[in-house]
Amino acid sequence: MGNSKNIPYGRQSIDEQDLKAVTDALTSGWLTTGPKVAEFEQAIAKISGVAHGVAVNSGTAALHAAMFAFEVKEGDEVIVPPMTFAASANCVAYMGATPVFADVDPDTLLIDPAEVEKKITSKTKGIIAVDYAGQPCDYEALRNIADKHGIFLAADGCHSIGGSLNGKPVGSLADITLYSFHPVKHMTTGEGGMAVTDNAEYDKRMRIFRNHGITADFRQRDGWFYEMQELGFNYRITDFQCALGLSQLSRLPEWIARRREIAAIYDKEFAAMEGIAPLGKQEGAKHAYHLYVINLEGENRSDKRKAVFDYLRGHGLGVQVHYIPVHLHPYYKNNFGTHEGMCPVAEKAYEGLISLPMFPLMENEDIEYVVETVQTALRQG
Ligand SMILES: *Cc1c(COP(=O)(O)O)cnc(C)c1O
Repeated sequence: MGNSKNIPYGRQSIDEQDLKAVTDALTSGWLTTGPKVAEFEQAIAKISGVAHGVAVNSGTAALHAAMFAFEVKEGDEVIVPPMTFAASANCVAYMGATPVFADVDPDTLLIDPAEVEKKITSKTKGIIAVDYAGQPCDYEALRNIADKHGIFLAADGCHSIGGSLNGKPVGSLADITLYSFHPVKHMTTGEGGMAVTDNAEYDKRMRIFRNHGITADFRQRDGWFYEMQELGFNYRITDFQCALGLSQLSRLPEWIARRREIAAIYDKEFAAMEGIAPLGKQEGAKHAYHLYVINLEGENRSDKRKAVFDYLRGHGLGVQVHYIPVHLHPYYKNNFGTHEGMCPVAEKAYEGLISLPMFPLMENEDIEYVVETVQTALRQG
């Protein structure tokens, strides 16, 4: 049998129920900011164990809205990890504030609370923790630091929706948690995102922010009067996207169960292989496995990674690298003076990282194919 495999690292699932939900919403009379938005917000807040959800049109918009809720301003510093998608730090730059990079734990690649503590200054306004690959960070340690210094704690949960730490769901572990519903994430609205929180004031500020900064407080009174009190954006999401989100959400538990099943097979197979190490597990965490990441061991990892990566790509596996440490991007070097050597753990880890295919629709034979192909690639690399 010739192998014409084409397995991406992640892929959405759209079924008949999703199609019906979207067409029903489209013909309901509401195209945007209707009942499905509120329903979706409540449903995501519920699984997050908090009172409020603010749906927006991307995970990036959700991060931006959170920074607005926390009143991050020019001159402030916000601590972020380098091992993440650029948007986790960009939202700080949007506010004219400075992202300060705190290195990650070598085993889990999650932000290291001891490194966070070292980066605290009189300008520090808060921390954005990132649940890299899908397992929650050490929020107990991070909460202690945040409370001690009177700063905010945000969670970029774009990888970890449906996960938990010591029995508490992702979404309830920080002051505000952000999700993305991009197609490559656990569940999708095409483009979309949400900020969830237990804090009514943050909720209110984020609602105003997604709608140009306009308050609707006077609407009921006068019918036509409104005031724009702060500068916001149009970050609204449509009703039909939220209808898709609700439909997708109903399958999230089974999808996460399948992701954990796939990860368990990978863990077992890769533990026995020479030359690679799976990521470490955060104590008390239930992993949501947005990504399954392997790290190459030994010398010349950068060259070895390129050889293995090219081999896997050449054999139909849409592998990826998550992530180029954010502080190494030219934008950050040029505007914030970041440089190589600032976060040595993330920089060293980066040289050997590869994200393997991980999505609920993978068949068992796909998983076997990935394992065999990685094995062959390592022998040749
Ligand atoms: C996907 C992602 C984002 C951005 O979400 P978008 O919906 O693409 O804007 C932010 N942070 C992390 C960690 C992500 O994976």
